[in-house]
Amino acid sequence: MTEQNTLSAAVTVLRAEQPLTVEMPRCDHYIDGRHLESATGETSEVVDPARGTVLATVPRGGAAEVDAAVAAARAAAPGWAARTPKDRAEVLLALAEALRDDRDRLRTLEALNCGKPPAVTADDVDSAIDTFRFMAGAGRSTTTVAAGDYVEDITSMILREPLGVIGMITPWNYPLLMVAWKLAPALMVGNTIVLKPSEVTPLTTLRLAELADGILPPGVLNIVNGSGSTVGAALSAHPGIDMIALTGSVGAGRSVAGAAAANVVPAHLELGGKAPVLVCPDADLDQVAATVAEAGFWNTGQECGAACRVLAHDSIAEALTEKIVTAVAAYRLAAPEIDQDDTLGPIIYRGHYERVMTAIDAAVDRGAEVLLGARGDDSEGYWIEPTVLKVATGDPISLEEVFGPVVTIETYREESEGVARANETDYGLTASVFTRDVATALSLAKALDFGSVNVNTHLALPTEMPWSGFKHSGYGRDLSAYALDDYSRTKHLALNHART
Ligand code: NAD
Repeated sequence: MTEQNTLSAAVTVLRAEQPLTVEMPRCDHYIDGRHLESATGETSEVVDPARGTVLATVPRGGAAEVDAAVAAARAAAPGWAARTPKDRAEVLLALAEALRDDRDRLRTLEALNCGKPPAVTADDVDSAIDTFRFMAGAGRSTTTVAAGDYVEDITSMILREPLGVIGMITPWNYPLLMVAWKLAPALMVGNTIVLKPSEVTPLTTLRLAELADGILPPGVLNIVNGSGSTVGAALSAHPGIDMIALTGSVGAGRSVAGAAAANVVPAHLELGGKAPVLVCPDADLDQVAATVAEAGFWNTGQECGAACRVLAHDSIAEALTEKIVTAVAAYRLAAPEIDQDDTLGPIIYRGHYERVMTAIDAAVDRGAEVLLGARGDDSEGYWIEPTVLKVATGDPISLEEVFGPVVTIETYREESEGVARANETDYGLTASVFTRDVATALSLAKALDFGSVNVNTHLALPTEMPWSGFKHSGYGRDLSAYALDDYSRTKHLALNHART
């Protein structure tokens, strides 16, 4: 039974009387196939963002756990690397099967830990399963330059080898999915792993450790819980790793890349985004409004590719704005047990709630017009209404990542101005163009400085295609066969076959 729970005069949230219930995973570190407490005995609380209540207590690791995990991964590396691709693919497929069998529990854990609505948890878990399946197949059919005699009597060939031990650090917005994006290709090419989940959202990663136990050999996957400043920093600076892979903020990316530089190992960085939606005069405005409402507010806008910045041609801006506001106004804030269409969940934690509210308030103070929302309530969970702001050219909110349920609308007059403004942000992850003209679509797509450009859609993310940013959005490819390249190295083998 549902009730309308009015938190304050401003913000209404749908909830059931009872939150979802689920069996928690073992909340400890997972090192060398064993579940371990922290050496220090320190713990941190995992909070339900829809209610602000404590869900679980997880040990906080430190340098000792990182050392142990790297040592376990190093010891397991030769055996795992020596297996054939077919063998490793079978292990990945078994893991995909275990995730599928556990789908409901994983969805509920993600729903409780992140406040995500059912549509988002279904997509998260299904996409994670698909990533393991895809990498299992793609890793058996890699292409590379043909072997050949490029010097007389010497046959050259390329060996593709694992890097060794990879440190991985994941964020809170898609806890299981971001782990799958990194883990599946890295395991498939024969690496062993030390993984630190976000301290805010470790639950599905810890459940994955339980599922992987008995499928992956001990030491192939190790998980250390803790904060970025302790475990994340210790892992990225550890001399025993061969690469550090991070999905997170630009600030964390800079720290991790600095540590990697000191160790002379590669960093693989998927960082923030600020996606423009460039709307041409001939665009289908209903399509734009529906797409912005979905892709701007998916996962409550806590999405690095969110369609958060609409650049509308002057001639259609008024009509488009009305349609976007109407489409977004259909959303209801709801706790994750409410299984209805068009619901939005909470903001992940109090500190982030305050960041998003501060960004909205500052924009309004600078003169942004509130077309919808802009009100929040953190008395029981962390809730912000879906917000649409009309902003002036050059307002900082157009360039900075807000990472919440906030879409801004601004106008442009000339196509060249629209492109220049879309590109003026430091981020370069994803962008979209809306036009009915194929030549315009192609030339604008080429002019946009973003790692993926969508035409008449936004957030198209097939597992087969690479996801990677330009500029401050980082470097390194997730998804697709390119991820297999990124997590491996090429060795040139030259074989002298002259008969003497
Ligand atoms: P965050 O940078 O605060 O944390 C990400 C992870 O890095 C966490 O596990 C955290 O503990 C760790 N960390 C933080 N500082 C660190 C440091 N100095 N050294 C080592 N580790 C450190 O980011 P978040 O708030 O969890 O996630 C949101 C950010 O992630 C946004 O900027 C978003 O755009 C980005 N993101 C990017 C993608 C992508 O594919 N490009 C996907 C999801 C999220």
